[in-house]
Amino acid sequence: MPVKATYICYECAFSQDSTKSKLATAIVTDKDYLISKCKFGHMQHLYTNIPKYAYLYENGLKAYSEENYYECFSSLYAALENAWLVYIESNMWLNFDKSFEFLDILKESKLHRSERIQGAFIDSYIRNTKRVPPKLSNRLVQARNEIIHGMIPPNNELCEKAIEKIYSVIHEIEAYSIIDVHGYITRLPSYYYGKYSEYKKSLAPEVPGVKQMIVSDHGHFILGSHRVGTPKQFLESETLHSTNEILKKSSFIPTIFKKQLS
Ligand SMILES: [Zn+2]
Repeated sequence: MPVKATYICYECAFSQDSTKSKLATAIVTDKDYLISKCKFGHMQHLYTNIPKYAYLYENGLKAYSEENYYECFSSLYAALENAWLVYIESNMWLNFDKSFEFLDILKESKLHRSERIQGAFIDSYIRNTKRVPPKLSNRLVQARNEIIHGMIPPNNELCEKAIEKIYSVIHEIEAYSIIDVHGYITRLPSYYYGKYSEYKKSLAPEVPGVKQMIVSDHGHFILGSHRVGTPKQFLESETLHSTNEILKKSSFIPTIFKKQLS
């Protein structure tokens, strides 16, 4: 199933007809942009500042609410792998004086297998923090291997564990921050991703009939926003959430389901 997000159609948005829906469905692909299409056929390539792991994680929550547990578990795990990768890249970007020259070198290194990404993440994390990186419980790792090899199907309880645990791991990855010139704290992985998107958009050739745009998205996502703030605000936002709290926060969960949770 494709991972989708709802965005405004930037062509319909400027139409005077207030009866027209201005929403579009954007599909997350392996490209550097989301492909957005509204029901009137307007196509847009959206270069967002939200890393893919945020879309994947929210897709996992949506699948959970639809009791589609395989989709839920695999989406959450893909979110984790993507968060590792974004962390690695954001560090390389800093090491290359905020230039994107490292991307070609990284591509040549073929860092695409899960274990390799995880190894590079651990190395990078220890160098930065001098601490052991956040890990999943053995039970989740074992379940992941069994699910991938078709030995067991994921169930409700396992998905709830994955929602909570993978959230806390990505949350800690995101907390890697830099302080900008104004004294505000910026989460590096998502800050980097915004710059990456701008860079990729600047290289993109024109596509006939398709508008290519940079979209800044703040506040809607559970994970993935810059969350720029003062040190005090930053520390207050550091509280980890339980599965129930995460689900209640999600805009994808139907109201009925939220009532059951409370
Ligand atoms: Zn449209």
